This record gives sequence, structure tokens and C-alpha cells, in this order.
Amino acid sequence: MIVIASHNGDIGIGKAIQILKDGGTAMDAVEAGIRLVEANPDDHTVGYNGWPNIIGGLELDASIMDGKSLNSGAVAAMKRFPYAISVARQMMERKLPHVLLAGNGAERFAREIGAEQWDEMMTDEVKAVWQKRLAQSSADSSQPLDDDTPLQDRVKIATDPERVTSTVNFIAIDKYGDMCTGVSTSGWAWKYPGRLGDSPIIGAGNYADNRYGACACTGMGEMAIRASTAHSVVFYMKMGMSVTEAATQAMKDLCDLGGDYIGRMNLIAMDKNGEHIGMSSSAGREYVYQTADMSNHEFLERTVVDIPARWGSSA
Ligand code: ASP
Repeated sequence: MIVIASHNGDIGIGKAIQILKDGGTAMDAVEAGIRLVEANPDDHTVGYNGWPNIIGGLELDASIMDGKSLNSGAVAAMKRFPYAISVARQMMERKLPHVLLAGNGAERFAREIGAEQWDEMMTDEVKAVWQKRLAQSSADSSQPLDDDTPLQDRVKIATDPERVTSTVNFIAIDKYGDMCTGVSTSGWAWKYPGRLGDSPIIGAGNYADNRYGACACTGMGEMAIRASTAHSVVFYMKMGMSVTEAATQAMKDLCDLGGDYIGRMNLIAMDKNGEHIGMSSSAGREYVYQTADMSNHEFLERTVVDIPARWGSSA
């Protein structure tokens, strides 16, 4: 039994491993661990206190995948429901014919299942930072924002991909050998309204298959969407690579992406036997793990795979 998580999962990993020790499933462990991150007021990249989009709307994305059945559930650009991971799990367990609901539809579903709803999620602290970034995003900051205000240029100016993104990833293996992966995020700060990253996209930011292993990503979601990064890692394991070889290859694949916007990427991955690895395109990044016989979690440094950044210049 083991749980691994992105560094900000440290707040939830103890509870997750306890659930596994008590006989709970990997799915229960992942959901409970992520809920604690979603409730953490100090985390501005996940849950109710996350950074909003460019017009001040907090839109949450989350997904969960069951490695046994290959079932998954996801919600995206969802407002007013702080525990996005639980709504994503319900998407899977209510056996709808759908996998992913976005925006009003996700909110409607969350209401229908009685998910915890907060009408106001943005704290004064977050509002103040957003207002500052909004003012910096336009030469004429006196212009009021309305439905017709052009946002394309504001989004380019206000976003700083090295400083304003993160997400939480959890992967668990339970005593039955079942794997589960969960991802939750407020996404890229100051993003265009309605922008989805990789976190709610199965195969991009999240993938689990009991037969081989699992992977989850943080970083610039557009890259993981374009390269199907989480699925690639699991697919490479299926083709016979070790978890380290598979994760390295999937990171290297990102170097082939063209275009003007190539930023940071991180992933955690684990094979079906519990061998794990964390990777990042930046030095000094960590992830966290705990097995059933450890009394506390430990941080491990991620292996660096260099992905040369390109930002706003034609490639
Ligand atoms: N992957 C997330 C997204 O693109 C953000 C992050 O992890 O930094 O929305």
C-alpha cells in the first residue's frame, strides 16, 4: 500500500495512507487526500482559495480514474463547489453515460447530488492579488470589464506560467492492488474564462491502469493535452518500459511540441508494483510519498528532464 502526491499533497497524504491501512480503497484514499488540499487556505492553486481567471471567476477542474475498471469522472470550469474531486468521483460513480461535465452543466450536476456549495469562494486576499494583476493586464486599467471587453491581450500580459500555476496529484495503490489517480486544480491563474487545462482531461493530466501503472501531471496543461502525457507514460509501461524510462520518454516527447508557448511540466508516476518517480522540467522540485509501514511522509527530489521554454516568440 502506497500513496504518492505532488509536493502540496503533503497535507493530505497521512489521511490517505490511514484510509488504506484501515482497509479502504485507493479511490477513498485519493479523494480524502485531495479534499484536504482543496480545503487548505494556503494553497492558491487548488480548491476554494485558488487564483481566479482574468475576470475574477474561480473555475475549478478535477478528475479521478479507477485503474481497475478504467472508469473515470471529471468536472471542469466549475464555480461555487470547492470539493471538485468529490464531484468528479460522483460523475464516475453515478454511472452517467458521460465522463466530463463543464461549466453550468457541472454546477447543475453538483447541485443535483447535493455537493457542498459556497456562493462566495474568493477571499479578500485573493481578490486583492487578482485586482492588481488585472490592472497590470491592460494599458488602460480604468476600462470597466464587461462581456464584450477583449481579453486576449490581457491574458497574455497577466499570465506568468512559472509563478502562477500548480495543481495537486495523488496516486494510490490499496491492499487489493487497485490503483487510483486524482487531480484537482484552480488551473492557470488569470486564464481566459472557460480555459481548461490537462487536469480534467483523462489521458492528459491523469491516467491509471492497474495492469501497468498510473501517472498524473502538473504544469502547463496545454502541453500535456497536446501530447497526452499521462496516457503516454502508462502506454510506454505497457510497451515494456520501466516507470522511469516511461516517464522520461513522455517528458522528452514534450520537446517536440512546436508553437510559441512551451513552459514547465511535472509529473508523478507509479507502476503496478509501487515503484515510483517524480519528474520536472525545473530543478529543485519535489514530490511526496508514504507507504503503509512509514509513520510519516517523505519528500523526494524530482528527476529533471530539460524542456527548453519558449514564451511568446515564434518557433
Ligand atoms: N496543469 C494545470 C493546468 O494547466 C496547472 C498546473 O498544474 O500548474 O491547469
